[in-house]
Amino acid sequence: MDSPPYTGQAVALATQHGKERALAPPLDRRLGLTVQTVAIDTDQFGTFTGTIPRTGTPRDAALAKARAGMVASGLSLGLASEGSFGPHPWMPFGAGGVETLAFIDAGRGLELTLSAVSRRTNFANHIITAGEDIAPFLARIGFPSHALIVRGPDGGILATGVQDMAALSALAWPGNRLETDMRAHVNPTRMAAIRALAGRLAARLATPCPACGCPGWGQVDVMRGLPCSTCNQPTQAIFAIIDGCSACGHQESRPRPDGVTAASPASCDWCNP
Ligand SMILES: [Zn+2]
Ligand SMILES: [Zn+2]
Repeated sequence: MDSPPYTGQAVALATQHGKERALAPPLDRRLGLTVQTVAIDTDQFGTFTGTIPRTGTPRDAALAKARAGMVASGLSLGLASEGSFGPHPWMPFGAGGVETLAFIDAGRGLELTLSAVSRRTNFANHIITAGEDIAPFLARIGFPSHALIVRGPDGGILATGVQDMAALSALAWPGNRLETDMRAHVNPTRMAAIRALAGRLAARLATPCPACGCPGWGQVDVMRGLPCSTCNQPTQAIFAIIDGCSACGHQESRPRPDGVTAASPASCDWCNP
């Protein structure tokens, strides 16, 4: 087998939030690719606190950050991650997180983004009421290993990155609002999600396109239309996985990895309208 495509090379990572701790080990182990951090102001691409609003999709933001790191470092490989948090898209009463990772290889014309939706996030906020014990909220969000942002009743930020009880007690007045600080270096749950995504990126970069040989072959889409087990009509369920190459555009479909070849009639518009 050939050696992985990026052995001995360096990739620029634009981050202020210590993400190299999560991203570097999988890329080094699997590909021999070294992460080189670049000190640029990533807050210019938007902040979690809303001080600078985000524009575009998380994918756009991650690609823009990766490009900025390449420009600042002069490297032809760029890497960046972007997190977005809010009400979970599929779970009405839970918060969810989406981590997006972008990788650019300018020499090969490769722009690859991967994302993962996770229910495992501590994203939450809480307004303190008079005489209240905030300990249950703190336990739920993983304080103090996970930091807090404190806002006043007018929404103004009083402190960010709060990770000790003494600092929090001085600010824990009724009417103030506690928010989870979602910056990666003060949020171990997020750091773990980024690390898992880095493992997927490394595996993907180790897989060449069967048509052009460019690294990064893997799932880009799904094909719906799994046939109903009773009437054989297509349903909305996933029928096949579509793998693709971000460089040459070649695509191939393959069967579902779970081996399922028919949908339940309960999910069929013909049998169960
Ligand atoms: Zn290709
Ligand atoms: Zn049917």
